Amino acid sequence: MNLNHTSAWEKCLTEIKGLVDEKSFRTWFAPIKPVKLEDSVLTIQVPNKFFYDWIEENYIGLLGKVLYKHLGKNAGLEYQILVENHRDIEGNYKQALERKLKENKIIDFLNEEFNQSLNANYTFDNFVQGDCNKLARNAAVSITGNLGKSAFNPLIIYGGVGLGKTHIINAIGNEIKKNNTNPRIVYTNTERFTNQIIKALRDNQIYEFINSFQMVDIFMIDDIQFLEGRTKTQEIFFNIFNYMHQNDKQLVITSDRPPHELQGIQERLISRFKWGLVADIQKPDLETRIKILESKAQRDQLYLTPDVLNFIGHNVTGSIRELEGVLVSLSAHSTLNERIIDLELTSEVVDKISHTNRRVISVDNIQQVISDHFGIPVSSINGKSRKKEIVIARQLGIYFSKEMTDSPLKDIGNNFGGRDHSTVLYSIKSVNNQIDVDPLFSELVVKLRNKLENSLIKSFN
Ligand code: ADP
Ligand code: MG
Repeated sequence: MNLNHTSAWEKCLTEIKGLVDEKSFRTWFAPIKPVKLEDSVLTIQVPNKFFYDWIEENYIGLLGKVLYKHLGKNAGLEYQILVENHRDIEGNYKQALERKLKENKIIDFLNEEFNQSLNANYTFDNFVQGDCNKLARNAAVSITGNLGKSAFNPLIIYGGVGLGKTHIINAIGNEIKKNNTNPRIVYTNTERFTNQIIKALRDNQIYEFINSFQMVDIFMIDDIQFLEGRTKTQEIFFNIFNYMHQNDKQLVITSDRPPHELQGIQERLISRFKWGLVADIQKPDLETRIKILESKAQRDQLYLTPDVLNFIGHNVTGSIRELEGVLVSLSAHSTLNERIIDLELTSEVVDKISHTNRRVISVDNIQQVISDHFGIPVSSINGKSRKKEIVIARQLGIYFSKEMTDSPLKDIGNNFGGRDHSTVLYSIKSVNNQIDVDPLFSELVVKLRNKLENSLIKSFN
């Protein structure tokens, strides 16, 4: 019998295939590489220590038998562990991964993420600085020049809706792209991240998914508050976080509230958030609002007189998204209706928008959008039916009411047909759970959230 390591391992594999189920075979045996065969001792390479432990614990008996059969009574097994410490990661494994990447074989999850999902319109150049965002902006700029070596790791940026978190996080990515060749940037939001994890778990590739972060220079994740209550995703995020932090890879995280106010997120994760810099973004003051208006008007080639600028600055005091809404609307009126942008038009538009804002963030409005989407009347959503699709519509309505309005749980319950506090909590939990396990449902949530946000923008005009 004249076997080399490859043919010996092939024989073993064929045999193992018949002995274990397909999923285990793919996860635990297919990734093994035979390295050498000397005096009946086969050396195999496994991706990391965890993998080695798992095989020793679960399959060593089976492997022993198979090796004995093909290599004889002196058969032996030795392991080479590919990633054992940081040095190996930087060396061998990184090279192997680089090769895979070139061959386009790297795990699809990250391939699609690398650099691609960044919004090129969000840069530091068009991000207006004010007292409200100075710390966050400066910290963000500083990590781009110091990738992996910054003291701000992780960088956590938090603040209310429409104040510039997504803009800053994209600006970081775009700046790094400008200054580096082929940086490995992963930019994602919490919904998409959760989806990827669900898919990876389903395809039995979670382990490859986690491992692929070894290739990443910077990992940026938007809207981490949506991790609330998603235990499995948090678990996996925790692993990735630790790995990246230990290896001086940069992490950037945004949230709509400060870490200590995040509920339903494991304490160990929250305490790690505090290792770096936590920077807030506040609502802009008058001076900053006017600067932002000027900058955006110039970009859109919209001429606004000083009194118009002042009027908007004084009257639209919420988020920057609202300021943009006014400009979009003014621009539409001036081009479509050929109206001059004077104080009269401006005050009409501003009036309408502040009215719209009050209306849109109400529970009623959410119920209407949900009702339109599912084709279920609001009265049924608020009624007693336990039909599956009605229950789902109701739970989603409650979920978004909690997320997008300031209504207390008690009022939300009242609005949904007089349901009590525990039913409201149960609905929110149930939506979160389903997002955790069902990618289609999770996509539906994203779609509905977009619809709700768009209903705001549409009614601007
Ligand atoms: P968030 O993610 O915090 O909800 P976004 O980053 O989506 O907010 O910002 C909302 C809109 O306001 C975006 O179009 C963004 O470009 C704009 N914006 C926010 N902050 C600024 C700023 N400081 N300068 C210019 N535009 C800004
Ligand atoms: Mg955002």
